[in-house]
Amino acid sequence: MTAQTGYGLITTPQTVAEAVAAMAGGAVPIAGATWLLRAPLRHEPMPDRLMSLRCLTEVQALDIGPERAVIGAMVTHDALAGALAGQPDLAGLATAAGASANPGIRRIATLGGNLGAAGFAASDLVPALLAADVTAVLATGSGLQSLPMAAFLAGRGGGGLILRVEIARSARRAAHARLPMRKAGDYPCAIVSVSADVSGGTIRDIRIAVGAVESTARRWSSLEDRLTGTALDPARAEAAAREMSDDFTARDAVDAPGWYRLSVLPVLLRRAFTQIKV
Ligand SMILES: Cc1cc2nc3c(=O)[nH]c(=O)nc-3n(C[C@H](O)[C@H](O)[C@H](O)COP(=O)(O)OP(=O)(O)OC[C@H]3O[C@@H](n4cnc5c(N)ncnc54)[C@H](O)[C@@H]3O)c2cc1C
Repeated sequence: MTAQTGYGLITTPQTVAEAVAAMAGGAVPIAGATWLLRAPLRHEPMPDRLMSLRCLTEVQALDIGPERAVIGAMVTHDALAGALAGQPDLAGLATAAGASANPGIRRIATLGGNLGAAGFAASDLVPALLAADVTAVLATGSGLQSLPMAAFLAGRGGGGLILRVEIARSARRAAHARLPMRKAGDYPCAIVSVSADVSGGTIRDIRIAVGAVESTARRWSSLEDRLTGTALDPARAEAAAREMSDDFTARDAVDAPGWYRLSVLPVLLRRAFTQIKV
């Protein structure tokens, strides 16, 4: 079904195969539209052909099971925060979803839109999903593709319809710390997401992801190596992060200069560690 609207042609595929074919023909998926409709503010052209995902059941899943969590692309930040409440291994993602933007945006912006907005450096969900080690499942012209989060981010320009993310559940503990800037519409100028396997007060394994500092979020592997096998100690983690923060080439933007983003990273790491320690 295709309709002419004030925003151009909108196609509403009834199946994933139809959606993939529409994308191959130039249709751009539209989810909450909170990024797409602000294209003129970014001096970008609006796509002339949009594709609604509302009839696809495959992008609506929200199943937080004991072994595995499955989160569909059309799940909103608000619904995600509610579904993940009280799950220690997914607490970082719950905070990311529940603290991002403002209540109105959280009710309409989606997981798929947050992942699909490649030019959005301050995404909260992306670093939380990196720390949670999720797999992104995409529908493409050559079939379904399952990609670890880092590989998904590296190939984000290549297209594909995001269907869902899948997360293996574990006994890890997770946290998400962000520093929003009021003068930048409450976007975070730096984000640290952590997921750790801790036993007897010692970090057995840890994933640390940093968002909003560079143009795309990424893991802080050198710091992960440094902290693995050490005590879960917020002050010690902050000191290590301060020594290693030049691992990032921070971006200058209207909300904050690069040096400021780097200077707050150690504090955010300490806050995330403090949440995990409780
Ligand atoms: C004032 C304001 C403050 C905000 N603050 C924050 C914040 O602090 N933290 C945060 O994380 N977010 C924040 N956001 C939201 C963020 O900037 C994006 O607008 C939002 O994540 C986009 O989600 P959406 O569902 O509206 O996507 P849309 O605008 O519909 O789409 C965004 C992009 O994703 C693509 N896309 C959508 N779904 C799919 C899919 N299933 N497969 C492939 N591609 C897809 C679209 O084609 C488009 O390119 C804020 C937004 C506003 C307006």
